[in-house]
Amino acid sequence: MKKILVVEDNSINMRLIKMTLGNKGYSLLEATDGEEALAVAVKERPDLIIMDVRLPKVNGLEVTRRLRQTPGLSQIPTLALTAYAMKGDREKAIEAGCDAYIPKPINTRQLPEVVAEMLRRGRASINGDASGAENPCR
Ligand code: MN
Repeated sequence: MKKILVVEDNSINMRLIKMTLGNKGYSLLEATDGEEALAVAVKERPDLIIMDVRLPKVNGLEVTRRLRQTPGLSQIPTLALTAYAMKGDREKAIEAGCDAYIPKPINTRQLPEVVAEMLRRGRASINGDASGAENPCR
């Protein structure tokens, strides 16, 4: 069973993501801040991480940067959740080592498709805007 770490500090979004992915046969792990995300990633070595960019303690970009520098964790496909209005977040997410991003509010049809595609294809398989027209996941 593929393990997915969901990192999200907003409880409504967390519940939405878990509902969206809950019936797909994944093992879902959760973290609600950056420190917890790092700890769970080290302990559980998930197959994919869904990473909110704006998090307490250590933000999602910094978490991703640290994971990319950690042997054994550097290749985990990471999908950033970016605030729709914050265009700069997207470029920063890719710079930090995220493989793709989707804007909030979360599209509950798109998310499981992107997740499945990233699990199938691995790191940097999408590399950019997973909501874009040219994206193979759409
Ligand atoms: Mn947040």
